[in-house]
Amino acid sequence: MSKNNKIWLSPPHLSGEEQKYIQQAFTKNWIATEGENITEFENDLEFFLGKNIKATALISGTSSIHLALILAGVKAGDEVICQSFTFVASVNPVLYLGATPIFIDSENDTWNMCPVLLEQAIQDRIKSGKKPKCIIVVHLYGMPAKISEIVKIAKKYDIKLIEDAAEALGSSYDGQMCGTFGDYGILSFNGNKIITTSSGGALLCKSYIEKRKAVFLATQAKDVADYYQHSEVGYNYRMNNISAGIGRGQMEVLDKRIEERIKTNQFYKKEFLKYKGIQVLNEPNQKFKSNYWLSCIIIDKKSAKKTAYEMYCHLKLNKIDARLLWKPMHLQPVFSKYKFYGTKISQTLFENGLCLPSGSNLTIDEKQRIMSTIASGLK
Ligand SMILES: *Cc1c(COP(=O)(O)O)cnc(C)c1O
Repeated sequence: MSKNNKIWLSPPHLSGEEQKYIQQAFTKNWIATEGENITEFENDLEFFLGKNIKATALISGTSSIHLALILAGVKAGDEVICQSFTFVASVNPVLYLGATPIFIDSENDTWNMCPVLLEQAIQDRIKSGKKPKCIIVVHLYGMPAKISEIVKIAKKYDIKLIEDAAEALGSSYDGQMCGTFGDYGILSFNGNKIITTSSGGALLCKSYIEKRKAVFLATQAKDVADYYQHSEVGYNYRMNNISAGIGRGQMEVLDKRIEERIKTNQFYKKEFLKYKGIQVLNEPNQKFKSNYWLSCIIIDKKSAKKTAYEMYCHLKLNKIDARLLWKPMHLQPVFSKYKFYGTKISQTLFENGLCLPSGSNLTIDEKQRIMSTIASGLK
């Protein structure tokens, strides 16, 4: 193997079974947004998630959030509480609807939405005369948020809860899968996620009626009639039968893929014991089970004598695809005018953290090359 091969952050990792399902779609001429692969992929997801969850396969995680917000009843002018520390796709759909995001800072244990700040923000918004319509919590990097506390708050104030589990398929809290706690959950099967359909997502809900509504909205909202009649605005968001075939092939190896990511995380944790000033994000206690989609580190620049940014540049120079942590949404130019509740927790994570290559197909040699490059970068 060449020393100069690029090591990717989180590349696709196929099972080899995907082609079989794609071939079936071709053989039966179901090259459409209908077909057996879609139904079976959804069945596979529902079986994996348990809890009688209903899954609707869509074109992306982003479109899944958009439809979840619509099902939650969010309309123009409503306020939606969002986690600031996330990828922009968690929040953009709020703006598609003309609603207003309200950003909440992270807590230090899981890096996800702080339940204390969440409740403060809700009370403050109610005081100013506007109860938020919905909350979008994220299980970032696969780490479950403090979801039991967040569910309690959402129930107490009777606010709909959407879980963005785009990065957290297979993560769980207290034995229950992420994405199944809220009124709605969403998954992503983008090329860099734990499994991929090249591009794709799923909306998770709790009843067949809601699922039927999701499919209706995702397929142009056609009323029952012999001609095309529409009483609602629809979307073209349904997953196609070929992508769903990739998804079926990927579901066959999902457990293995999660296992590999966890092993890689354990590798990093063991290796970083050797270095001063570098911490790997870890589960706060036994109830939290991360799929470790990405392994993340915090570099204490005083004791490591290197900043996260310097390490990022050093790795990049050596063709290792590390990534700075997400830049919080309240610091993004596109969202700067919206309210933020918090301090500097997510900002500090952004300024001091890195995601390391975490793909389930990472080889031992590659892992060692990553560690020796980090070691040379710390010198
Ligand atoms: C990837 C991702 C999304 C969006 O999913 P797409 O399938 O790329 O549209 C949303 N939220 C988070 C946290 C993500 O990582």
